[in-house]
Amino acid sequence: MSVVHDQHTETNPWEAQAARFELAAKKLNLDPGLWKILSQPAREITVHIPVQMDDGRIELFTGYRVQHSMARGPAKGGIRYAPEVNLDEVRALAAWMTWKCAVVDIPFGGAKGGIICDPKKMSRGELERMTRRFTAELIEVIGPEKDVPAPDVNTNEQTMAWMMDTYSMHMRQTVTAVVTGKPIEIGGSRGRREATGRGVMLVTLQAVKKLGRLPWDTRVVVQGFGNVGSYAALLLHEQGFKVIGIAEWNCGLHNPNGIDIKKLFEYKAATGGIQGFPGADAADQNELLVSECDVLVPAAMENQITTLNAAKIKAKIIVEGANGPTTAAADDILQEKGVFIIPDILANAGGVTTSYFEWVQDRQGYFWKEAHVNAELEHIMVDSFQAVMHYAEAHQVNNRIAAYMLAIDRVASTIRTRGIYA
Ligand code: GLU
Repeated sequence: MSVVHDQHTETNPWEAQAARFELAAKKLNLDPGLWKILSQPAREITVHIPVQMDDGRIELFTGYRVQHSMARGPAKGGIRYAPEVNLDEVRALAAWMTWKCAVVDIPFGGAKGGIICDPKKMSRGELERMTRRFTAELIEVIGPEKDVPAPDVNTNEQTMAWMMDTYSMHMRQTVTAVVTGKPIEIGGSRGRREATGRGVMLVTLQAVKKLGRLPWDTRVVVQGFGNVGSYAALLLHEQGFKVIGIAEWNCGLHNPNGIDIKKLFEYKAATGGIQGFPGADAADQNELLVSECDVLVPAAMENQITTLNAAKIKAKIIVEGANGPTTAAADDILQEKGVFIIPDILANAGGVTTSYFEWVQDRQGYFWKEAHVNAELEHIMVDSFQAVMHYAEAHQVNNRIAAYMLAIDRVASTIRTRGIYA
Protein backbone atom coordinates (compact mmCIF):
# COMPACT_ATOMS: atom_id res chain seq x y z
CA MET A 1 0.00 0.00 0.00
CA SER A 2 1.31 3.45 -0.79
CA VAL A 3 1.71 6.16 1.81
CA VAL A 4 -1.35 8.38 2.14
CA HIS A 5 -0.31 12.01 2.25
CA ASP A 6 -3.74 13.44 2.85
CA GLN A 7 -3.80 13.92 6.64
CA HIS A 8 -7.59 13.84 6.81
CA THR A 9 -7.86 10.48 5.04
CA GLU A 10 -4.90 9.16 6.97
CA THR A 11 -6.48 9.90 10.33
CA ASN A 12 -10.03 8.79 9.57
CA PRO A 13 -10.39 5.66 11.76
CA TRP A 14 -12.94 4.04 9.47
CA GLU A 15 -10.52 4.42 6.52
CA ALA A 16 -7.76 3.00 8.72
CA GLN A 17 -9.89 -0.02 9.57
CA ALA A 18 -11.01 -0.50 5.96
CA ALA A 19 -7.43 -0.32 4.62
CA ARG A 20 -6.30 -3.20 6.85
CA PHE A 21 -9.52 -5.17 6.24
CA GLU A 22 -9.00 -4.97 2.48
CA LEU A 23 -5.38 -6.07 2.64
CA ALA A 24 -6.26 -9.04 4.84
CA ALA A 25 -9.41 -9.98 2.89
CA LYS A 26 -7.41 -9.96 -0.36
CA LYS A 27 -4.74 -12.22 1.16
CA LEU A 28 -7.48 -14.57 2.35
CA ASN A 29 -9.16 -14.60 -1.04
CA LEU A 30 -12.36 -13.75 0.80
CA ASP A 31 -15.60 -14.55 -0.99
CA PRO A 32 -17.00 -11.28 -2.51
CA GLY A 33 -20.36 -11.71 -0.73
CA LEU A 34 -18.75 -12.14 2.68
CA TRP A 35 -16.49 -9.20 1.84
CA LYS A 36 -19.57 -7.03 1.30
CA ILE A 37 -21.15 -8.16 4.57
CA LEU A 38 -18.06 -7.60 6.68
CA SER A 39 -17.09 -4.27 5.19
CA GLN A 40 -20.22 -2.55 6.55
CA PRO A 41 -21.63 -2.40 10.08
CA ALA A 42 -24.82 -4.46 10.49
CA ARG A 43 -26.66 -1.70 12.34
CA GLU A 44 -26.04 1.96 13.18
CA ILE A 45 -28.13 3.88 15.67
CA THR A 46 -28.05 7.64 16.22
CA VAL A 47 -29.92 9.20 19.13
CA HIS A 48 -30.35 12.81 20.20
CA ILE A 49 -30.86 12.80 23.92
CA PRO A 50 -32.18 15.66 26.03
CA VAL A 51 -30.57 16.14 29.42
CA GLN A 52 -31.55 18.62 32.07
CA MET A 53 -28.37 20.37 33.19
CA ASP A 54 -27.72 21.50 36.77
CA ASP A 55 -28.63 25.11 35.95
CA GLY A 56 -32.05 24.04 34.65
CA ARG A 57 -31.16 24.40 30.99
CA ILE A 58 -31.96 21.52 28.61
CA GLU A 59 -29.02 20.31 26.53
CA LEU A 60 -29.29 17.95 23.57
CA PHE A 61 -26.51 15.38 23.13
CA THR A 62 -25.89 13.18 20.10
CA GLY A 63 -25.03 9.56 20.77
CA TYR A 64 -24.28 6.51 18.66
CA ARG A 65 -24.32 2.76 18.97
CA VAL A 66 -22.91 0.84 16.03
CA GLN A 67 -23.23 -2.94 15.93
CA HIS A 68 -20.74 -4.11 13.35
CA SER A 69 -21.37 -7.85 13.62
CA MET A 70 -23.47 -10.24 15.68
CA ALA A 71 -22.47 -13.35 13.77
CA ARG A 72 -20.40 -14.96 16.54
CA GLY A 73 -22.57 -13.88 19.46
CA PRO A 74 -24.00 -10.77 21.12
CA ALA A 75 -22.39 -7.52 19.96
CA LYS A 76 -19.76 -6.32 22.46
CA GLY A 77 -17.88 -3.10 23.01
CA GLY A 78 -17.40 0.03 25.02
CA ILE A 79 -19.08 3.42 25.22
CA ARG A 80 -16.95 6.57 25.10
CA TYR A 81 -17.71 10.15 26.05
CA ALA A 82 -15.66 12.80 24.22
CA PRO A 83 -16.10 15.98 22.18
CA GLU A 84 -14.41 14.31 19.17
CA VAL A 85 -16.79 11.31 18.99
CA ASN A 86 -18.18 10.89 15.48
CA LEU A 87 -19.92 8.18 13.50
CA ASP A 88 -16.87 7.12 11.47
CA GLU A 89 -14.86 6.71 14.66
CA VAL A 90 -17.59 4.66 16.34
CA ARG A 91 -17.95 2.53 13.18
CA ALA A 92 -14.24 1.80 13.15
CA LEU A 93 -14.17 0.99 16.85
CA ALA A 94 -17.16 -1.34 16.39
CA ALA A 95 -15.42 -3.23 13.57
CA TRP A 96 -12.25 -3.44 15.66
CA MET A 97 -14.31 -5.06 18.42
CA THR A 98 -15.53 -7.72 15.94
CA TRP A 99 -11.95 -8.50 14.93
CA LYS A 100 -10.66 -8.32 18.51
CA CYS A 101 -13.25 -10.78 19.87
CA ALA A 102 -12.49 -13.12 16.97
CA VAL A 103 -8.70 -12.92 17.47
CA VAL A 104 -9.08 -14.08 21.09
CA ASP A 105 -11.85 -16.47 20.04
CA ILE A 106 -14.56 -15.37 22.47
CA PRO A 107 -18.24 -15.73 21.46
CA PHE A 108 -19.06 -12.09 20.78
CA GLY A 109 -19.58 -9.84 17.79
CA GLY A 110 -18.45 -6.23 17.79
CA ALA A 111 -20.08 -2.93 18.72
CA LYS A 112 -19.17 0.50 20.01
CA GLY A 113 -21.01 3.52 21.30
CA GLY A 114 -20.26 7.08 22.09
CA ILE A 115 -21.77 10.40 23.04
CA ILE A 116 -20.47 13.75 21.80
CA CYS A 117 -19.93 15.64 25.04
CA ASP A 118 -17.18 17.08 27.20
CA PRO A 119 -17.36 14.98 30.36
CA LYS A 120 -14.67 17.11 32.05
CA LYS A 121 -17.11 20.01 32.03
CA MET A 122 -20.12 18.03 33.29
CA SER A 123 -21.18 17.35 36.85
CA ARG A 124 -21.71 13.84 38.21
CA GLY A 125 -25.47 14.40 38.15
CA GLU A 126 -25.41 15.55 34.52
CA LEU A 127 -23.32 12.53 33.53
CA GLU A 128 -25.69 10.21 35.36
CA ARG A 129 -28.81 11.68 33.69
CA MET A 130 -27.13 11.56 30.26
CA THR A 131 -26.05 7.94 30.78
CA ARG A 132 -29.50 6.86 31.96
CA ARG A 133 -31.31 8.55 29.08
CA PHE A 134 -28.85 7.09 26.56
CA THR A 135 -29.42 3.61 28.02
CA ALA A 136 -33.20 4.09 27.88
CA GLU A 137 -32.97 5.12 24.21
CA LEU A 138 -31.06 1.92 23.43
CA ILE A 139 -33.31 -0.33 25.51
CA GLU A 140 -34.49 -2.53 22.61
CA VAL A 141 -31.09 -3.09 21.08
CA ILE A 142 -28.92 -3.85 24.12
CA GLY A 143 -29.18 -6.84 26.46
CA PRO A 144 -27.14 -9.83 27.63
CA GLU A 145 -28.02 -11.78 24.48
CA LYS A 146 -28.05 -8.80 22.11
CA ASP A 147 -25.37 -6.22 22.77
CA VAL A 148 -23.29 -5.78 25.92
CA PRO A 149 -21.67 -2.34 26.47
CA ALA A 150 -18.57 -1.71 28.60
CA PRO A 151 -16.39 1.25 29.60
CA ASP A 152 -14.09 3.01 27.15
CA VAL A 153 -12.55 6.51 27.00
CA ASN A 154 -14.00 8.72 29.81
CA THR A 155 -16.46 6.11 31.06
CA ASN A 156 -15.87 3.82 34.03
CA GLU A 157 -17.35 1.39 36.54
CA GLN A 158 -19.82 4.01 37.78
CA THR A 159 -21.09 4.64 34.24
CA MET A 160 -21.70 0.89 33.89
CA ALA A 161 -23.51 0.79 37.24
CA TRP A 162 -25.94 3.49 36.01
CA MET A 163 -26.47 1.63 32.72
CA MET A 164 -27.09 -1.65 34.53
CA ASP A 165 -29.55 -0.02 36.92
CA THR A 166 -31.46 1.79 34.15
CA TYR A 167 -31.73 -1.35 32.03
CA SER A 168 -32.81 -3.36 35.10
CA MET A 169 -35.51 -0.81 36.01
CA HIS A 170 -36.99 -1.14 32.52
CA MET A 171 -36.87 -4.96 32.70
CA ARG A 172 -38.35 -4.97 36.23
CA GLN A 173 -35.55 -7.26 37.41
CA THR A 174 -31.82 -7.00 38.04
CA VAL A 175 -29.94 -7.85 34.85
CA THR A 176 -26.24 -7.75 35.69
CA ALA A 177 -25.04 -9.25 32.38
CA VAL A 178 -26.28 -6.30 30.28
CA VAL A 179 -22.96 -4.48 30.73
CA THR A 180 -19.45 -5.43 31.80
CA GLY A 181 -16.80 -3.45 33.61
CA LYS A 182 -19.17 -2.94 36.56
CA PRO A 183 -18.14 -2.44 40.18
CA ILE A 184 -17.43 -5.85 41.76
CA GLU A 185 -20.26 -5.53 44.31
CA ILE A 186 -22.91 -5.37 41.57
CA GLY A 187 -21.67 -8.24 39.41
CA GLY A 188 -18.32 -7.00 38.16
CA SER A 189 -15.42 -9.38 37.75
CA ARG A 190 -12.32 -9.42 39.88
CA GLY A 191 -9.39 -8.44 37.69
CA ARG A 192 -11.47 -6.54 35.10
CA ARG A 193 -10.08 -3.14 36.08
CA GLU A 194 -6.49 -4.22 35.42
CA ALA A 195 -7.33 -6.61 32.58
CA THR A 196 -6.47 -4.51 29.50
CA GLY A 197 -3.15 -3.48 31.04
CA ARG A 198 -2.52 -7.08 32.12
CA GLY A 199 -3.13 -8.26 28.55
CA VAL A 200 -0.65 -5.64 27.29
CA MET A 201 1.92 -6.91 29.80
CA LEU A 202 1.33 -10.56 28.84
CA VAL A 203 1.81 -10.04 25.10
CA THR A 204 4.83 -7.78 25.70
CA LEU A 205 6.42 -10.63 27.68
CA GLN A 206 5.74 -12.96 24.76
CA ALA A 207 7.25 -10.51 22.29
CA VAL A 208 10.47 -9.95 24.24
CA LYS A 209 10.83 -13.71 24.67
CA LYS A 210 10.35 -14.23 20.94
CA LEU A 211 12.90 -11.55 20.10
CA GLY A 212 15.42 -12.95 22.60
CA ARG A 213 15.37 -10.03 25.02
CA LEU A 214 15.13 -9.88 28.80
CA PRO A 215 12.60 -7.65 30.62
CA TRP A 216 15.23 -5.99 32.83
CA ASP A 217 17.22 -4.95 29.74
CA THR A 218 14.12 -3.56 28.07
CA ARG A 219 13.19 0.12 28.31
CA VAL A 220 9.54 1.00 27.95
CA VAL A 221 7.72 4.25 27.17
CA VAL A 222 3.97 4.29 27.83
CA GLN A 223 1.66 6.89 26.31
CA GLY A 224 -1.41 7.42 28.47
CA PHE A 225 -1.87 6.92 32.20
CA GLY A 226 -5.57 6.18 32.20
CA ASN A 227 -7.01 2.75 32.88
CA VAL A 228 -5.00 0.93 30.20
CA GLY A 229 -1.68 2.79 30.35
CA SER A 230 -1.43 2.97 34.12
CA TYR A 231 -1.97 -0.75 34.72
CA ALA A 232 0.19 -1.70 31.72
CA ALA A 233 3.00 0.42 33.18
CA LEU A 234 2.50 -0.99 36.68
CA LEU A 235 2.39 -4.63 35.60
CA LEU A 236 5.38 -4.23 33.23
CA HIS A 237 7.28 -2.55 36.07
CA GLU A 238 6.39 -5.50 38.33
CA GLN A 239 7.73 -7.90 35.68
CA GLY A 240 11.10 -6.13 35.82
CA PHE A 241 10.80 -3.92 32.72
CA LYS A 242 12.37 -0.48 33.00
CA VAL A 243 9.52 1.97 32.41
CA ILE A 244 11.56 5.07 31.53
CA GLY A 245 8.84 7.34 30.16
CA ILE A 246 5.18 8.16 30.66
CA ALA A 247 3.47 10.55 28.24
CA GLU A 248 0.15 12.09 29.18
CA TRP A 249 -1.98 14.34 26.95
CA ASN A 250 -0.62 17.49 28.63
CA CYS A 251 2.77 16.50 30.09
CA GLY A 252 5.39 13.78 30.30
CA LEU A 253 7.85 12.12 32.66
CA HIS A 254 11.27 10.64 31.96
CA ASN A 255 13.78 8.77 34.07
CA PRO A 256 16.46 6.71 32.27
CA ASN A 257 16.86 4.52 35.36
CA GLY A 258 13.18 3.60 35.42
CA ILE A 259 10.16 5.22 37.07
CA ASP A 260 8.73 3.68 40.23
CA ILE A 261 5.20 3.15 38.91
CA LYS A 262 3.77 2.16 42.31
CA LYS A 263 4.87 5.53 43.65
CA LEU A 264 3.46 7.24 40.56
CA PHE A 265 0.06 5.61 41.25
CA GLU A 266 0.16 7.03 44.78
CA TYR A 267 1.19 10.43 43.45
CA LYS A 268 -1.66 10.49 40.92
CA ALA A 269 -4.17 9.42 43.57
CA ALA A 270 -3.01 12.27 45.81
CA THR A 271 -2.69 15.05 43.21
CA GLY A 272 -5.04 14.01 40.41
CA GLY A 273 -2.27 13.82 37.79
CA ILE A 274 1.33 12.85 37.07
CA GLN A 275 2.72 16.35 36.57
CA GLY A 276 5.43 17.27 39.08
CA PHE A 277 6.15 13.67 40.16
CA PRO A 278 9.46 13.88 42.01
CA GLY A 279 10.76 10.48 40.81
CA ALA A 280 11.31 11.61 37.19
CA ASP A 281 12.17 14.64 35.06
CA ALA A 282 9.52 16.54 33.16
CA ALA A 283 9.59 15.70 29.44
CA ASP A 284 7.73 16.74 26.32
CA GLN A 285 4.90 14.27 25.72
CA ASN A 286 5.35 14.24 21.92
CA GLU A 287 9.12 13.85 22.14
CA LEU A 288 8.69 10.83 24.42
CA LEU A 289 7.00 8.92 21.60
CA VAL A 290 10.08 9.21 19.43
CA SER A 291 12.64 8.99 22.24
CA GLU A 292 15.22 6.25 22.76
CA CYS A 293 13.45 3.10 24.10
CA ASP A 294 12.87 -0.55 23.24
CA VAL A 295 9.11 -0.88 23.71
CA LEU A 296 6.53 1.81 23.00
CA VAL A 297 3.03 1.31 24.40
CA PRO A 298 0.58 3.81 22.89
CA ALA A 299 -2.32 3.47 25.34
CA ALA A 300 -4.20 6.73 24.82
CA MET A 301 -6.10 7.58 21.64
CA GLU A 302 -6.23 6.94 17.89
CA ASN A 303 -3.80 8.42 15.37
CA GLN A 304 -0.77 8.94 17.59
CA ILE A 305 1.72 7.30 15.22
CA THR A 306 1.29 8.83 11.77
CA THR A 307 3.38 9.71 8.71
CA LEU A 308 4.49 12.78 10.69
CA ASN A 309 6.41 10.84 13.36
CA ALA A 310 6.63 7.15 12.34
CA ALA A 311 10.07 7.49 10.71
CA LYS A 312 11.47 8.97 13.93
CA ILE A 313 10.28 6.15 16.21
CA LYS A 314 13.20 4.38 17.91
CA ALA A 315 11.28 1.57 19.64
CA LYS A 316 11.81 -1.94 18.27
CA ILE A 317 8.48 -3.15 19.61
CA ILE A 318 5.14 -1.31 19.63
CA VAL A 319 2.34 -2.73 21.78
CA GLU A 320 -0.95 -1.03 20.98
CA GLY A 321 -2.84 -0.57 24.24
CA ALA A 322 -5.20 1.92 22.58
CA ASN A 323 -7.52 1.23 19.66
CA GLY A 324 -6.16 2.53 16.35
CA PRO A 325 -3.08 4.41 17.62
CA THR A 326 -1.20 3.77 14.36
CA THR A 327 -2.44 4.94 10.97
CA ALA A 328 -2.38 2.59 7.97
CA ALA A 329 0.16 4.84 6.25
CA ALA A 330 2.43 4.75 9.31
CA ASP A 331 2.28 0.92 9.20
CA ASP A 332 4.23 0.97 5.94
CA ILE A 333 6.97 3.14 7.42
CA LEU A 334 7.23 1.00 10.56
CA GLN A 335 7.32 -2.20 8.54
CA GLU A 336 10.22 -0.85 6.49
CA LYS A 337 12.04 -0.05 9.73
CA GLY A 338 11.41 -3.61 10.95
CA VAL A 339 9.41 -2.59 14.02
CA PHE A 340 7.64 -5.53 15.67
CA ILE A 341 4.03 -4.41 16.20
CA ILE A 342 1.55 -6.15 18.45
CA PRO A 343 -1.63 -4.76 16.90
CA ASP A 344 -4.48 -3.31 18.96
CA ILE A 345 -6.92 -6.11 18.14
CA LEU A 346 -4.55 -8.48 19.94
CA ALA A 347 -2.63 -6.25 22.36
CA ASN A 348 -5.61 -4.64 24.10
CA ALA A 349 -7.93 -7.67 23.94
CA GLY A 350 -7.36 -8.47 27.63
CA GLY A 351 -10.14 -6.04 28.54
CA VAL A 352 -12.88 -7.61 26.48
CA THR A 353 -11.64 -11.10 27.33
CA THR A 354 -12.18 -10.37 31.01
CA SER A 355 -15.51 -8.76 30.08
CA TYR A 356 -16.39 -12.15 28.64
CA PHE A 357 -15.47 -13.74 31.98
CA GLU A 358 -17.66 -11.15 33.73
CA TRP A 359 -20.60 -11.93 31.44
CA VAL A 360 -20.14 -15.66 32.06
CA GLN A 361 -19.97 -15.14 35.85
CA ASP A 362 -23.08 -12.92 35.82
CA ARG A 363 -25.05 -15.45 33.84
CA GLN A 364 -23.95 -18.28 36.13
CA GLY A 365 -24.30 -16.28 39.31
CA TYR A 366 -20.99 -17.76 40.43
CA PHE A 367 -17.97 -15.53 40.89
CA TRP A 368 -14.35 -16.47 40.32
CA LYS A 369 -11.30 -15.74 42.44
CA GLU A 370 -8.93 -13.15 40.99
CA ALA A 371 -6.17 -15.74 40.49
CA HIS A 372 -8.56 -17.79 38.34
CA VAL A 373 -9.51 -14.76 36.22
CA ASN A 374 -5.84 -13.90 35.69
CA ALA A 375 -4.87 -17.47 34.85
CA GLU A 376 -7.67 -17.79 32.28
CA LEU A 377 -6.69 -14.44 30.78
CA GLU A 378 -3.05 -15.47 30.50
CA HIS A 379 -4.06 -18.65 28.75
CA ILE A 380 -6.10 -16.80 26.13
CA MET A 381 -3.60 -13.98 25.56
CA VAL A 382 -0.64 -16.36 25.13
CA ASP A 383 -2.58 -18.69 22.82
CA SER A 384 -3.83 -15.76 20.73
CA PHE A 385 -0.33 -14.27 20.47
CA GLN A 386 0.95 -17.64 19.23
CA ALA A 387 -1.95 -17.98 16.76
CA VAL A 388 -1.19 -14.55 15.27
CA MET A 389 2.54 -15.35 15.00
CA HIS A 390 1.65 -18.59 13.26
CA TYR A 391 -0.52 -16.78 10.72
CA ALA A 392 2.17 -14.16 10.11
CA GLU A 393 4.76 -16.81 9.39
CA ALA A 394 2.49 -19.08 7.37
CA HIS A 395 1.20 -16.25 5.16
CA GLN A 396 4.32 -14.08 5.18
CA VAL A 397 2.47 -10.99 6.38
CA ASN A 398 3.06 -8.55 9.20
CA ASN A 399 1.49 -9.11 12.63
CA ARG A 400 -1.36 -6.70 12.06
CA ILE A 401 -2.48 -8.23 8.79
CA ALA A 402 -2.05 -11.68 10.34
CA ALA A 403 -4.38 -10.74 13.20
CA TYR A 404 -6.96 -9.35 10.75
CA MET A 405 -6.69 -12.48 8.60
CA LEU A 406 -7.20 -14.75 11.59
CA ALA A 407 -10.20 -12.69 12.73
CA ILE A 408 -11.83 -12.31 9.32
CA ASP A 409 -11.37 -16.00 8.63
CA ARG A 410 -13.15 -16.90 11.90
CA VAL A 411 -16.05 -14.49 11.40
CA ALA A 412 -16.46 -15.45 7.72
CA SER A 413 -16.48 -19.12 8.60
CA THR A 414 -19.27 -18.55 11.16
CA ILE A 415 -21.38 -16.68 8.62
CA ARG A 416 -20.81 -19.41 6.02
CA THR A 417 -21.90 -22.08 8.50
CA ARG A 418 -24.96 -20.16 9.69
CA GLY A 419 -25.95 -19.22 6.13
CA ILE A 420 -27.84 -16.14 5.02
CA TYR A 421 -31.38 -15.79 6.36
CA ALA A 422 -33.66 -15.02 3.47
N1 GLU B 1 -13.59 -0.60 25.49
C1 GLU B 1 -12.76 -1.75 25.61
C2 GLU B 1 -12.15 -2.11 24.28
O1 GLU B 1 -12.02 -1.29 23.42
C3 GLU B 1 -13.45 -2.91 26.30
C4 GLU B 1 -14.63 -3.46 25.59
C5 GLU B 1 -15.40 -4.49 26.38
O2 GLU B 1 -14.92 -4.92 27.42
O3 GLU B 1 -16.46 -4.84 25.90
O4 GLU B 1 -11.71 -3.20 24.06
